[in-house]
Amino acid sequence: RDVFTLLAETGIDGIWLDVPFLRSDFGENFKNEWACTCKFCREKFEEEEGVPFPDKVDWDKENFKRYIQFRYKETEEFIEFVNDTIKRVNPDIKLIVETPAAFTLFSTKCASNPLNYKSISDLTVHELGGPVRKSQIFSQLYFLSYMDFFSATDKGPTWILSYVFKKHKGFKELYKLHGAEIVLFEMNPLTSGDETMSSVVDENFRKVLFSWMEKYKKDIFGFNKIYSKVCVVFSRKTLDFIDRGEYLSEYAYHDMFPGMLMLLNYLGIPHVVVGEDEMEDVNKYDVAIFPSFLCVSEKEREVIENYIRNGGKAIFTGYSSLFDEYGNKLNDFRLKDLFGVSFVRVGDRIYRNKYGDGEVIYIPWTPEGDFIYTVSPWYPDLKVDLKKVQRIGEDFLEDAGIHKLTDFITVESDGIVIPAIFKRGSVYSLRLLNFTGISQENSVPRRINVRIKFKLEEGVKVKKVIFLPYLGDKEEFSFKTLDGFLIIEAPLSYMNIFTICTFK
Ligand SMILES: [Zn+2]
Repeated sequence: RDVFTLLAETGIDGIWLDVPFLRSDFGENFKNEWACTCKFCREKFEEEEGVPFPDKVDWDKENFKRYIQFRYKETEEFIEFVNDTIKRVNPDIKLIVETPAAFTLFSTKCASNPLNYKSISDLTVHELGGPVRKSQIFSQLYFLSYMDFFSATDKGPTWILSYVFKKHKGFKELYKLHGAEIVLFEMNPLTSGDETMSSVVDENFRKVLFSWMEKYKKDIFGFNKIYSKVCVVFSRKTLDFIDRGEYLSEYAYHDMFPGMLMLLNYLGIPHVVVGEDEMEDVNKYDVAIFPSFLCVSEKEREVIENYIRNGGKAIFTGYSSLFDEYGNKLNDFRLKDLFGVSFVRVGDRIYRNKYGDGEVIYIPWTPEGDFIYTVSPWYPDLKVDLKKVQRIGEDFLEDAGIHKLTDFITVESDGIVIPAIFKRGSVYSLRLLNFTGISQENSVPRRINVRIKFKLEEGVKVKKVIFLPYLGDKEEFSFKTLDGFLIIEAPLSYMNIFTICTFK
């Protein structure tokens, strides 16, 4: 406490906590252990959890699983403690937490779940490898799934430390595309590095990018959450207790979750990530997607049931709810009444079940897995079967029956366009990223024309539309309205930002 108090008393503006982790590699008998196992930590664990401190790594033992949870709790309590301590000295001081944790096994190892840091810090900063090598279009889509996740860890814009490696041919073009991908999600690119993580990839371009961001910061930043009617719920428990820190996990949640984010981006459906600890938030959305949501507690069942009873539409895939909150297999789906089918009766078809005022769609297989393993973003040289990818997308739209609920934004073009929408008061920020023509050899999107149909909320009228192309200058833009939709037709090269000012 003294250290943080003294630091705050110097009058500094903020404190950056660099990766507050309780890291463990789960080596045999804690041999590769970083997280503390000292007398005090053992005592604290036993007092709080009421079970003996685990003496070895055993994912089948309850006290070990409690230890996994305990580490997250300790990390969060530490961040909260620092935040409270420094704000007692100066209420305006900012706490910035850096963590690269997302939906991967790395998060289990580090006991870091940044979705829970919103209320205990001012800002989270994320570090991510970035498209460091020559990459196919789906490597870029995988990169975007991290942006999706990271943008859910803060109340407002966040920062990302990311790298583009200099040793590859065409790195300058890749660097330019990379900047567009980050700004799409209202993030600040702190692209500090090349392969050494210390020098600058391209000084000239960085100056161009940062000057543009500074000039148009009001058009780029200061919005809040992504505006959407669709949320995707993240299950930290499934990541921890099903994958158990292993890449060769049978259910591979660490691939399923980003697989769903990639699939939705590919289909042009803007969405928001919601963490299981804030699951009540699903009530803000028309559609809640639970991809491979294997571990479900009784309490969570109640939240999900209420959501659907009150008119929500939920989509589950794979072995969702077949495990309890510690990853123990149940005899039947915990949500069998919602799915309308019990585990032993599941056949090779989709289950659609009306429940209360809402509906549940249960897809017994995993479209998210089909998608991510077909496009294999980890293999930049892979020749992807694009027809198969398209079929997986079309099947999912039809199976999930979410056309009508997600058509609040449609982008017609002859390319691949990723939309994102933000909202601030009566102002919408509609952004389109162009992936058309991106391949291993090419990071420059082909210029296309797009026609956007954006459904206006009840009683909302459009005052003006401002068009800001990536690295370009803004101008007032022509638009039409038709049957409650705003229609914009525009050229798109890297990324466009449309600021839509409305009134009632
Ligand atoms: Zn200790």
